[in-house]
Amino acid sequence: MKAYSSARDEFKGQADIWLDANENPNESNLNRYPDPLQLSLKKKIAEKKKLPAEQIFVGNGSDEAIDLLFRAFCEPGQSKAILFPPTYGMYEVSAAINNIEVAEIPLTNKFEIPQLDVIKPFLNCTGLLFICSPNNPTGNCTSSEAIKEIAKNFDGLVIVDEAYVDFSNAESATALIETTPNLVVLQTFSKAYGLAGARVGMAFANAEIISVLNKIKPPYNMNTLSISAASEALENQSVINSQIQTIQSERERMKAELFELNNVVQVYPSEANFLLTEFTDSEKVFSALLNEGIVVRNRNSAIKNCLRISLGTPTENNQLITTLNKLQS
Ligand code: PMP
Repeated sequence: MKAYSSARDEFKGQADIWLDANENPNESNLNRYPDPLQLSLKKKIAEKKKLPAEQIFVGNGSDEAIDLLFRAFCEPGQSKAILFPPTYGMYEVSAAINNIEVAEIPLTNKFEIPQLDVIKPFLNCTGLLFICSPNNPTGNCTSSEAIKEIAKNFDGLVIVDEAYVDFSNAESATALIETTPNLVVLQTFSKAYGLAGARVGMAFANAEIISVLNKIKPPYNMNTLSISAASEALENQSVINSQIQTIQSERERMKAELFELNNVVQVYPSEANFLLTEFTDSEKVFSALLNEGIVVRNRNSAIKNCLRISLGTPTENNQLITTLNKLQS
């Protein structure tokens, strides 16, 4: 397949007069097309992640990268998507959109990926295998050793979705890219970097995989405003770091506070910015909170009696606890 070559692909140098892309010549911040490969942003990401720009893809949220991976590396009706539920719902939706059959291997009762001998029979195919770490909605991580072992035993691509990795102390799977040719790591600016509205996701992999994603993506998949928002966020790393610290300490505080409530059965350990919490009757708590104007994520259908509660500001978290206490009495 030959990639579309845009005006901004064909000439990248310095010039005074731009008459190549049918733009509006009147100056404004947004009258020009953005860089199709977002090189200025990738340079900053490369520095932070210690990976070369050729190993970085930037897209319209990690959701774009997930869809492009299906389109590039799966054969509709033939390849498979291997998932470990309960996990992030878009893998299944993207698989269905691309006519890819899903093979589900449930996590163990500790929310861990089962041992290799259990999953090995499922690996006898090609396609994509998704490991979400920290996992949404359970909050726990998969070790680098387990990821390496699975990748070694699978002929398709292993996608490690690290949307929540900034809240965790675990080592990123990006460290494995050099020695694991079939590994793709996804990260995002939507969570710790506070840019869910800007839609900026990243995929890291060897240069060969990244060049395929770049070839099939829409030419200008990232807009100028989002590229600069992401660049600015990276320049304000110290602010982001202190926000992450607050979330981490709120995570520990809220875990203890929730556990004190009579109708809370357990609060699962989390390395993300949410707490999966089991109640005696989660549907009742869910609707009662809604009545009070507090929205949490109802995961009862996936994990019995569980609500996934995002960590808010300390004030919001206090309001949640006060409301839950009031509902009990
Ligand atoms: N992966 C996981 C595990 C998520 O929870 C989410 C968002 N809920 C995404 C990816 C999507 O991220 P983005 O906003 O970058 O598309």
